[in-house]
Amino acid sequence: MRSFIPALGLIGLSVAAQAQTVPPAREILMKSTAIPTVEGRGKVPELAAYYAGILKNAGYKEDEVVFTPIGETGYLAATLKGRKSDKPILMLGHMDVVEAKASDWERDPFVPVEENGYLFGRGIEDNKYDVAMMIVTMARLKQQGFRPKQDVVLILTGDEETTGITAKAAAQKYKHAALALNGDGGGGLLGEDGKAEVVSLQAGEKTYADFLVTMTDPGGHSSTPTATNPIYRMTRALARLEAYKFPAMQNELTRASFTARLADETGARREAMQAFLANPRDDKAADTLSTNPELIGQVRTTCIATEIEGGHAPNALPQTVTANINCRIFPGVAIADVQATLSEVLAEPAMTIKAEGDPLASDASPLRDDVMKALKMAVARRFPGTPVVPYMEAGATDSLFFRAVGVPSYGVASLAQKSKDRVPHGLNERVPVAGMDGAVTYWIDLVTALAK
Ligand SMILES: [Zn+2]
Repeated sequence: MRSFIPALGLIGLSVAAQAQTVPPAREILMKSTAIPTVEGRGKVPELAAYYAGILKNAGYKEDEVVFTPIGETGYLAATLKGRKSDKPILMLGHMDVVEAKASDWERDPFVPVEENGYLFGRGIEDNKYDVAMMIVTMARLKQQGFRPKQDVVLILTGDEETTGITAKAAAQKYKHAALALNGDGGGGLLGEDGKAEVVSLQAGEKTYADFLVTMTDPGGHSSTPTATNPIYRMTRALARLEAYKFPAMQNELTRASFTARLADETGARREAMQAFLANPRDDKAADTLSTNPELIGQVRTTCIATEIEGGHAPNALPQTVTANINCRIFPGVAIADVQATLSEVLAEPAMTIKAEGDPLASDASPLRDDVMKALKMAVARRFPGTPVVPYMEAGATDSLFFRAVGVPSYGVASLAQKSKDRVPHGLNERVPVAGMDGAVTYWIDLVTALAK
């Protein structure tokens, strides 16, 4: 085992005498990526058993590493016992990956390889990199005899990319937790020269909700057109939706990320950002920002048509038309309020609108002093002088389920990449080989600072 710089808070702790060697993070990453934990292949329990084996070798007892099966998948929970157990600190990651079509890839997505300083494979970035770092962190903390103030629980879910049922179950079980550190959000951005430019902290995300809009009509023969054709009604309704803008909003996360962005902005975008920061009610500024796909989600709720279906024969008046409206709702806005707004905007006779599934709203997590302090300390040790910038994610992660039950959750991934190498869910997903020792030390620093 290679020696490493002892993390803050660990200096002077004894090393358990008979503990076995923890495999290097790189080995764990390669072996875990070779297990294709795609929905439908039933491989999550195999991966969980692999991780559990490493932790038990490091000294965890049987009952401290528990896999809870749910359908073909499940979640793994590993507990480093604290001096008290009432409010655990959680570390979150997910074991499942998005499907990858081998024929589209230059390399087999499930035979990880190293080339030109990168490791390639499906899921190697999202989320097996940080999971490997967290497994090593948990193993080392155990071996070094670290006794946290409260329990530290590593939770690895098994369907983040699909249904989120395992995260929902884990969130219920651990809703008394003090906070969660999620390895599937945030992270470092490297410049072209490989130097860290910024470290992001994900502290909020939009609420995801789908609404099914249905318009019906008695129909009839196409040679006798009527004024109530539901295809025309749906078309008019969707055109009104396209033109509608939800009210401009901001929170401490969007303000922090816009403030940090200003330095790199120019022209009308910069002016609009400045104006919006100065006056949250400046709708004109928000509208200017909304013309940018990567910014519109930061300033308001968005609802867009994503699917449409209707009619049943080329020579018949349509009887039914349905459209799916996908909404990304600003934290703090109730799902029911968005549905009410949609009803008003779409407003057509013989129309129904209903939420699909069971959407879950979650507020942004507060930028707590203890979390910010610990993160800044860990970042300062790893990437001296690099700013930490909070942000709100327009998409969603497992943190959604934990925030929904009241556990403040923070995306604090250790993975640091160049912008061009960020391709989660994409072709030739990859991570840099360099920097893994620093990534593990960063996690150890973070956890020991918060749980000491
Ligand atoms: Zn992910």
